[in-house]
Amino acid sequence: ATPTALLTGTGRGAQLGILIRGPQVLEDTRTVDTIVLDKTGTVTTGVMAVGDVVALAGTPGAPAFSAAEVLRLAGAVEAASEHPIARAIAQHAEGFGPLPEVRGFSSAPGGGVRGDVDGVTVTAGQAGWLEHHGIRPTDAGAAAFGAAQEAGTTAVWVALDDTVAGFITLSDTVKDGSATAVERLRRLGLRPVLLTGDNRAVALRVAESVGIDAADVRAGVTPAGKVEAIRDLQAAGATVAMAGDGVNDAAALAQADLGIAMGSGTDVAIEAADLTVMGNSLEQVAQAIELSRRTLGTIK
Ligand code: ADP
Ligand code: MG
Repeated sequence: ATPTALLTGTGRGAQLGILIRGPQVLEDTRTVDTIVLDKTGTVTTGVMAVGDVVALAGTPGAPAFSAAEVLRLAGAVEAASEHPIARAIAQHAEGFGPLPEVRGFSSAPGGGVRGDVDGVTVTAGQAGWLEHHGIRPTDAGAAAFGAAQEAGTTAVWVALDDTVAGFITLSDTVKDGSATAVERLRRLGLRPVLLTGDNRAVALRVAESVGIDAADVRAGVTPAGKVEAIRDLQAAGATVAMAGDGVNDAAALAQADLGIAMGSGTDVAIEAADLTVMGNSLEQVAQAIELSRRTLGTIK
């Protein structure tokens, strides 16, 4: 394509709320044949709602905490995180009263959070994050947690003073238009793949509702694992676009042949992407690919 055609395409993109990093990006979009979609905040709204707060009996000798305490302490630590899960838990906890301050906060993308609240060390997140701190649930706790996941909820462990004290379940909603967009992407010849750090049952449920094959669902994937997943597809000969919004997606967006960020996403995701869709919708992702093909098709 001529530079003029590419610049025209870039300008047209801007009018549509599609911010393109440079004219060259339009050349790259033309050749993609696989589109990897992050689940939380990309296919789904990323506005999560707390379902149940479950208190578990601690290991023998450890103090037991009530569900209200589990929520209050977890909420206080999550208040320091921007993650959709964190926002939901903190907001829900705030509904029951002001949250105490957190000290010594730390977090890992795709892992969880940790900090001291009212003299209690609070660790919240997925099993690997707890394990990283030497915390293991009891068999009974793990069974209850597994059942919640099987039921299709996103479940998050809460440990207090390095003993599992309970878990919190959350749910998310698929964005209006995600299913239509997946269909449109397919018609553009792209194979959709769902990639998430969340559990498999939730991922399969979302995949089914938007029309992604179960065989193309990669769940329980760490941020580094997301990069690996993109690399594996590339190694198998695919030219890969990836759409995401989170801190946990940034490295994968950079690894993809075409990185697409949601406009409401985190700054690191937007910085790592070649293209940003200001409307935050998958339909706009399809539109971006249609735009590039039209721009390059007509004027070449
Ligand atoms: P996704 O790929 O769906 O955007 P992430 O990679 O951000 O998910 O997170 C993967 C998992 O890590 C979550 O499902 C959750 O179990 C855990 N996690 C991440 N951040 C937090 C947090 N702030 N609090 C609790 N758990 C978290
Ligand atoms: Mg996300």
